[in-house]
Amino acid sequence: MFGSANTGDMKLIRCGAPGSEIPGVELADGSRVDCRAFGADWDGAFFGSDGVERLSRWIESPENRARRLPSDARLGPAVARPTKIVCVGRNYVEHAREMGSSPPEEPVLFFKSTSAIAGPADELVMPRGATKVDWEIELGVVIGRAASYVSVPDALAHVAGYVLHIDYSERAFQKDRGGQWVKGKSCDTFAPIGPFLATRAEVPDPQNLNLRLEVNGVQKQASNTAQMIFSVAELVSYISQFMTLLPGDLVSTGTPGGVGMGFDPPQYLAPGDVVTSAIERLGSQRQVVVAAR
Ligand code: MN
Repeated sequence: MFGSANTGDMKLIRCGAPGSEIPGVELADGSRVDCRAFGADWDGAFFGSDGVERLSRWIESPENRARRLPSDARLGPAVARPTKIVCVGRNYVEHAREMGSSPPEEPVLFFKSTSAIAGPADELVMPRGATKVDWEIELGVVIGRAASYVSVPDALAHVAGYVLHIDYSERAFQKDRGGQWVKGKSCDTFAPIGPFLATRAEVPDPQNLNLRLEVNGVQKQASNTAQMIFSVAELVSYISQFMTLLPGDLVSTGTPGGVGMGFDPPQYLAPGDVVTSAIERLGSQRQVVVAAR
């Protein structure tokens, strides 16, 4: 029997050429359903109108799930462009230490440009003048219901699902060029998202997911979301005290230890390097680093 769509557990994908991706659902056997006939992209309007529940009923129909997408088509970002990406800094003790700082008493927040979003296997393009391009694997949280002043116990009810996100960072832009971190976080291709969004029902416990990242096959990061200082529920509640999180928005929950800047001497990416990564239940990514264009 196909899945258990009554509970809304699904993997949402978007595939096709950049900018004209087709929304789809990846079935348990790996095949991809073309969901154009459902009549929505996986965006804020979709998430904010009980889209996950409506889609899970729609896809129960054998007729609706009969139309397939090619299995070799490029995967785009698993969600359409959100209104904002809110990132959390230093949310794992080991990462705070390797960055030379202590664990924060309150969550550290910063923005990342939404134009940085890319597909999970797109090339990572070095920005012009880059010398310190670094990796940060993170659990990404996609908002399902507008969240303003929500309590910690109510926070997860405002989550649509989870994605693998890599918060690529140019450390010289971030730390040596003055001002805020946003300059080192927002370059094109610095926010690959996917391969799919796993709906909240697919991830019963977001605080028990293994995550790992390798560069050229050598493991750099390996941890578990249980090691977060502030949990997903605490972060969503906390951020919602300062701004409204809109449906489709992405909250990136921080990276564990093992980023390039934390090595002695530091290790940064160069053209030709290959970055592979995975989060339990959320699939895997692969980027090839290419020179500035
Ligand atoms: Mn980060």
